Amino acid sequence: MPNSTALRDALTQSPNNLSLLLLYGRACLEELHLDEAREVFTRALEQDPDQTDAMLGIAKVLFMEGDTSGAAVRAERVIFLEPTNAQAHLLLSRVYLSEEDRTKAIEHFDRAAQIDGTMSDPALERELGRTARDARKTAPAPAAEPASQEAPMSGGGDQDEFFEDPFDDPPYDWRPETFYAPGDPERGNVTFADVGGMEELKEEIRLKITYPLQFPDLYKAYGRKTGGGILIYGPPGCGKTLILRAVAGEVPCNYLSVGLHEIFDPYFGSTERNLHQIFETARANAPCVLVFDDIDSLAMDRRQIRESQMRNLVNQFLHEMDGIRSENQRILVIGATNQPWALDPAFRRPGRFDQAIFVAPPDAPARAQIIELLAKDKPIAEFDTTELIEATNGFSGADLKWVFDRAAELALSAAIHTGQPVPITLELLLAVAKAHSPSTQEWFEGVRTHAQTNEGPDSIFNDMRKFLNAPSNTKKER
Ligand code: ATP
Repeated sequence: MPNSTALRDALTQSPNNLSLLLLYGRACLEELHLDEAREVFTRALEQDPDQTDAMLGIAKVLFMEGDTSGAAVRAERVIFLEPTNAQAHLLLSRVYLSEEDRTKAIEHFDRAAQIDGTMSDPALERELGRTARDARKTAPAPAAEPASQEAPMSGGGDQDEFFEDPFDDPPYDWRPETFYAPGDPERGNVTFADVGGMEELKEEIRLKITYPLQFPDLYKAYGRKTGGGILIYGPPGCGKTLILRAVAGEVPCNYLSVGLHEIFDPYFGSTERNLHQIFETARANAPCVLVFDDIDSLAMDRRQIRESQMRNLVNQFLHEMDGIRSENQRILVIGATNQPWALDPAFRRPGRFDQAIFVAPPDAPARAQIIELLAKDKPIAEFDTTELIEATNGFSGADLKWVFDRAAELALSAAIHTGQPVPITLELLLAVAKAHSPSTQEWFEGVRTHAQTNEGPDSIFNDMRKFLNAPSNTKKER
């Protein structure tokens, strides 16, 4: 949270900026300048009498001053205007607790936890003897928030196809196989620290989902929205699946990963309906990251499709992704593929996968990181990694892993036959690496063919051409 002095200075430049007023009010609250906070929130309410953040701000000021009934009246009004305002429920929980009505306090606490999957309030949890996780388990996930009146995340729908959503009826009972709420122990312990390189991609994911949750007011003040679509593409074995898994361990919100078998399920309705249900589940649990690995099987170029059923599925997918659907705010969709040329170009329109990031074979600093990760917890003799980094130019992360696995096998075999511990040495790793060709070579050959037939301005091919033409990458990929 920025400090109040900086925000007050910003407000002198732009005194009627509602978002800045709210941000400043919140900072005053944090710093316990209660009179100033009340004055600022009142100014915000003069601009918009139904501004729920300002109303809630005043309710918090009153609560801190000991006026619990004044706080309750305003928090109730916020909930009347915005039934899924988790902060208002949380405040009411505190109000009821201070009035020793535990039943009501727990009721509002549970509601807050069910609405906001990232909510946690250790002090209140201790006093209530109940964790947010317990609260989420006791009731079904909340319904989606009412459609926002704000402008869409970014414009642009599929202008060339009129598409009517056939699934306006209530969703049937469908449960995803991989759905994690924040704090679920099953989320796994893979995080971005376990993925070498990909700094641009990691930061893009943080910008689109992590930071907006950490600094919601700043995002409002700058008019930035949460979520969107990121397509990641590149040769096999370079860590696309790994980073999708790491997103689960990294982002502080719900995470839904979809296996293709969950969509192409012959026993569970049509594929379009299944896909629709997946998006509905993500929307009902926003903020949420929705992940599709091998997205090329789902988002195929319609010009190459013969069966009408598959075309319908692609149309449905495009429709679900549309940025003009305001309910898609606070959902980040990440798709991964090693065949970007097989995707329908309509997925690259604004409001769908706006961002396409090329995951190239790791460069030298990324290889250094991966080597360090692979060497961890193995019986490895001390060595300077410079020579190995150089010898593995063009290797994918999977190739590097193979080098370490193979060297470990050889060292193990030697240990068994000699009866002595045999460490994995630099010489052994270098010998294995030198006998191995990067598995990405074939993929880059394919890219050349596709790049030749796709001379257009598409950044997907430009990125890959740029990579292929860089002098430092000519050694092994060519
Ligand atoms: P495909 O396109 O074939 O699905 P991929 O790009 O998804 O391939 P992964 O399956 O994520 O590649 O990578 C295979 C394995 O290689 C990983 O499980 C990991 O052990 C190792 N690996 C690849 N890239 C990295 C990386 N950047 N950092 C650490 N390990 C990596």
